[in-house]
Amino acid sequence: MSKIWDIAIIGSGPAGMAAALYASRAGRETVIIEKFFAGGQVFQTFHIENYPGVKSIDGPSLTDIMADQSTSFGAELMIQEIVSLDLKAQPKEIHFKNGETLLTKTIILAMGAQPKLMEVKGEEEFTGRGVSYCATCDGAFYRGKEVAVVGGGDSALEEAMFLTRFASKVSIIHRRNEFRATKIIQDRIKAQENVELITPYVVKEVVGEGKMTGLILSNRETGEERNLEAEGVFVYVGYAPNTELVTQQVECQDNYILADDRDMSTSVEGVFAAGDLRVKNLRQVVTAVADGAIAAVSADHYLNELE
Ligand code: NAP
Repeated sequence: MSKIWDIAIIGSGPAGMAAALYASRAGRETVIIEKFFAGGQVFQTFHIENYPGVKSIDGPSLTDIMADQSTSFGAELMIQEIVSLDLKAQPKEIHFKNGETLLTKTIILAMGAQPKLMEVKGEEEFTGRGVSYCATCDGAFYRGKEVAVVGGGDSALEEAMFLTRFASKVSIIHRRNEFRATKIIQDRIKAQENVELITPYVVKEVVGEGKMTGLILSNRETGEERNLEAEGVFVYVGYAPNTELVTQQVECQDNYILADDRDMSTSVEGVFAAGDLRVKNLRQVVTAVADGAIAAVSADHYLNELE
């Protein structure tokens, strides 16, 4: 008979890593399942300065520390692509692309979120040839060049700040005149000489030939159009939860999972949710790890009751 795990954690961002740490330290047979590599979105973050206890660190380094700590108490990291889940089965079933099935008594959903697209003409065509969703990954290709950033949240402004190290000019295109980003980040950006704020504009089209050469922008108040020359555009217009595998099985709101704030339980018994994929007010590393810890302790309590 196949092995039955105590706790299977899906996703290895900060929420999943924290859950693995708490689950394995509780003595539970724990597996973390990840599609590509450990880390989640934080892996692509160039600078983190608001995670208490760590004054300043880059995303990959924080990921390394978390992965090392989380697996040091026996949790196993498994790289597998999941094609479907049966959350209500007893034990619960996780089906992989390679045809294998993993059985587990409890599941912690921690698949996080992924960048939203602008959904404009040329975006798909020039992805990887000018259009990027990761300044940390691609910023260095734009040394001495003009680039644009789209969005007005923390991600857009923080990553724009990172791009000022390489690019000769960074134009930030935002659809409103007010920015959503934290004030300290706004102040830093406004003090940068090679940054231009273009508001209230949206991108209408990404243009180029073979590779991107610029953007057509549209003013949201006047409808006026203007062209902006740029060799790259970095898109930070928010995130969408990675919940397509479970939206038919657990209660969701706008595709975000509804979990009880007290114990991270979902509408399905023995299934918990942690991190950016659940309905919550603040999506940060610090809140993701808190969710993960609570979810793991709740899964442990649930298993105690089963036993
Ligand atoms: P966000 O806060 O949701 O901001 C998305 C931005 O994109 C908003 O300014 C929004 O405009 C704009 N936008 C949305 N759809 C658009 C569209 N179709 N076209 C043009 N613009 C569009 O997303 P985020 O900045 O990625 O942040 C996500 C979460 O992570 C937030 O909770 C944020 O605080 C957190 N975060 C924190 C840090 C940090 O603390 N250091 C760093 C990064 C992210 P409107 O403002 O008009 O809605």
